[in-house]
Amino acid sequence: MLLLKRLIRNKQNTVMTNTQIIEILSQEFDIDVKSCHELEVDIYIKIIKKYLKDWPQWEELERISTKLCTANDFDAIMKVLDHKYKHLKEYLGVMLEATKPLAKKAVADLSLDHNKEKNLDSSDVALEVYCTRDQLNHLIFRRPRTDLNNSIFNVERVEPTRISLNTLSFQAIVNFWWTKITIDTANVLIHRELLYKYKHALINQVPEQSKPVAELHSAAISICRGRKTSEYAKKNITQYFTRILSTCNDENVKQILEIIFQIIRTDIKTFPDQLKVPATYMRHASRYKYVRHLFVENDRNDDAKYDLQLEEIVTPLVQVFVGRLGKYEKLGPIKDWLSIECCLCKMKFQGSTELVSVLQAHFTECHQHEADWQCVNCKKMFGIDYLSTHRWFHNCNSTAAE
Ligand SMILES: [Zn+2]
Ligand SMILES: [Zn+2]
Repeated sequence: MLLLKRLIRNKQNTVMTNTQIIEILSQEFDIDVKSCHELEVDIYIKIIKKYLKDWPQWEELERISTKLCTANDFDAIMKVLDHKYKHLKEYLGVMLEATKPLAKKAVADLSLDHNKEKNLDSSDVALEVYCTRDQLNHLIFRRPRTDLNNSIFNVERVEPTRISLNTLSFQAIVNFWWTKITIDTANVLIHRELLYKYKHALINQVPEQSKPVAELHSAAISICRGRKTSEYAKKNITQYFTRILSTCNDENVKQILEIIFQIIRTDIKTFPDQLKVPATYMRHASRYKYVRHLFVENDRNDDAKYDLQLEEIVTPLVQVFVGRLGKYEKLGPIKDWLSIECCLCKMKFQGSTELVSVLQAHFTECHQHEADWQCVNCKKMFGIDYLSTHRWFHNCNSTAAE
């Protein structure tokens, strides 16, 4: 009633707070918000706000009350107000009653959704992390840090703890993490890279794995992406390489090219004899996936129920894209048509006589502090130096792996 008085005096500028509406709900309509779900309360508040504004009798009430005010007939005003108050209450009451079943249904649907969430498989819970490779390698504390509000995430700057003394060979660098070779001449375009399919999972206590693991298929698959393709004999590639080498006079450049061409020749051995161009060819680099568990020790917490690790499973793939495959043409300087890219750092290194030393400097400084990998089948451990030198392949039955 008080509100009604204020509203007729200054309807445009009266802003009702939610607390005021909650008061109206309990005093006028017997709705106890404490026993309602917050979504239900929210719906009732919105209904009151909306229908209070849309009440069709505002204009009439305003007209009568202005008239009676000028006549100073307060008794009459009170009578009108009382009458209109009853009408408004009835009007809002009808709207609220109509809303009640809908609001209860909305709450029921909501709790159904909550239950659905509770039944989620742990593998359906995803965590998105934006970080560098180094940060990812050191992201998880083995046990929560009590001094950091029980955080399990390490956001401190990562300094390398292991200094590698041996320099990677050029052969290993081009088979390292995400290195991409590009040969781009007038008649020939080839991209060759090692790709890694990852699967990450945050686990507590690494389980003993006993079930047998699946062997990856070794057949090459081709992807043409619906473009018009032509067929070329695979030996065109090897012949093209031989022509380049026979015309190369720089011994340093020749050494680089010999290694690169040997890698691509080995890659395409398992590809079909007739190649579609343009097309991408892909095959697994290893017979089994590799796994490793990444964590940062935390000696300050010795709670035995924690042994958190970021499990990283990787499937290495060799990928060769042949975009053009024409006849041999006289080539310009190597920097114009050969480049090697570190895809992790998005850095491109043009072909040059210093290519090997430039790449060695980059990879020794940025990429050698990698944890070892374990074959999911034979459980042998391999350093990244070994894997990149051996094109990510190893023989599970061989004892001379290390
Ligand atoms: Zn890099
Ligand atoms: Zn193995």
